[in-house]
Amino acid sequence: MDLYRIAPGTAPALVDRNPRDKTAYKDLKKATSGPTLAQKQKELAALQRLLWADGSRSLLVVLQAMDTGGKDGTIRKVFSGVNPQGVDVTGFGVPTEEELAHDYLWRVHRHTPAKGRIGVFNRSHYEDVLVVRVAEIAPEPVWRRRYDHIVAFEQMLADEGTAVVKIMLHISKDEQKERLEARLEDPSKSYKFNPGDLKSRAAWAEYMAAYEEAIERTTTDAAPWFVVPADRKWHRNLVVADILIDTLKAMDLSYPEAEFDVTDFAIPD
Ligand code: ADP
Repeated sequence: MDLYRIAPGTAPALVDRNPRDKTAYKDLKKATSGPTLAQKQKELAALQRLLWADGSRSLLVVLQAMDTGGKDGTIRKVFSGVNPQGVDVTGFGVPTEEELAHDYLWRVHRHTPAKGRIGVFNRSHYEDVLVVRVAEIAPEPVWRRRYDHIVAFEQMLADEGTAVVKIMLHISKDEQKERLEARLEDPSKSYKFNPGDLKSRAAWAEYMAAYEEAIERTTTDAAPWFVVPADRKWHRNLVVADILIDTLKAMDLSYPEAEFDVTDFAIPD
């Protein structure tokens, strides 16, 4: 998955990345991708069981995207085989009064995953250098110093046993138009349409600049960013699953050894 990983100190060059890219699975198409995803869902489920049994580490997955970028669909598809008891999904919307009364990391830190668990952030502390920057909710010196805080915060999580991966689902402005239109046309989707989304769509270039800089400043070995092409949902799902599988495999997890000799026991009838 190095294809989509942003190396430390590097800018993602979002304008040069094709959101319709399908390099990782050139030989597949939407119609033929089902069994491959099913295989990955199984693999992820097995790794989640191992993470739980090992009990010493955790995994935090940060998902960021423009509206309609597919955060919800990715979570639904990629985790559909995983035991829901081991996964905590947290969405971060406009901060509440209580959240605003604290520092901006307070609300996220409370939801980082406990040992043995997977935590998924649907939006995250990155909103505090994205929407906060673009919508001018805080002045530049305030959001700009947050890059360093975030790097230190994520390094601390990593040092204490949480593997952190951050994924930007990269859609094109054209694809967003289609998805927003679909929301307006389909009564079963129109509840998801939020007129406020048009405001962020109008500021597309500013958002891309904010993502560009945030990713460059916060992609580290301890907490790397991945920019996943996301116009093709089936390819996006396979790539995200691969990132999580690779990350869990690299965590050196093991089943605990029994503290007794298993051959000493026979289960009575
Ligand atoms: P989603 O759009 O992800 O389905 P919501 O409808 O809850 O979820 O919307 C989240 C909204 O909250 C987005 O418009 C986002 O920009 C906003 N938001 C998230 N974090 C912050 C923040 N720290 N400050 C201001 N707005 C935020």
